[in-house]
Amino acid sequence: MIMPSRDMAKYFAAEFVNNGKRFEAYRYELNGRAYYFDSKGRSLKKALMRAPLRFRYISSGFSYRRKHPILKIFRPHLGVDYAAPTGTPVSAAGNGTVKYAGWKGHYGKCVIIRHPNGYETYYGHLSRIKRGIRRGVRVVQGQIIGYVGMTGMATGPHLDYRVKKYGKFINPLRMRVPRDRPVPKKYMADFKRYVAQTNSLIASLKEQQKQLYASRAVNRDLRKD
Ligand SMILES: [Zn+2]
Repeated sequence: MIMPSRDMAKYFAAEFVNNGKRFEAYRYELNGRAYYFDSKGRSLKKALMRAPLRFRYISSGFSYRRKHPILKIFRPHLGVDYAAPTGTPVSAAGNGTVKYAGWKGHYGKCVIIRHPNGYETYYGHLSRIKRGIRRGVRVVQGQIIGYVGMTGMATGPHLDYRVKKYGKFINPLRMRVPRDRPVPKKYMADFKRYVAQTNSLIASLKEQQKQLYASRAVNRDLRKD
């Protein structure tokens, strides 16, 4: 249920129930940018995306032993292949710094990004690297860094996406993704005030709604008589 308030641009909260579990989201602005947090100020956004593009299907999963489609030998495939048309935009999976952007053997044109907490993400077989994406450049989650292709050794256009954690490749589909940063300590008091204010606003809206339905029901009953 979405509960817009008097000042839609500033106050915004959502509450929904899924499998009996209640979820809440509070929109809160920091330095002019909107973020979503739970009532405790924890980010609702994951620090890394599992799939940094709109893909058609997964053409190859993460495996320590896969028969290579071109080499016909068993080799580990420590990434996920997302099949998508050539030119599909590929985004940075999280905030970070470009560690490498260029050609890398079988991996073709690729980008490697370093993220906080020991994570690195790899994007291979790109047709094109976005202009301005080069070593040392800071990127934010969702920013386009390149486009799907089949450079290097690939049987068709796809993104070969890999995630490293402290130097070891992990399965992007199974990883326990860390949350984005919480509300900064210095804003916590303000955030708590904001949550309380928003909650009381939601409660009064709910009350108004209840009364509205009740009066409609009474009117309906009156009409029946
Ligand atoms: Zn691959």
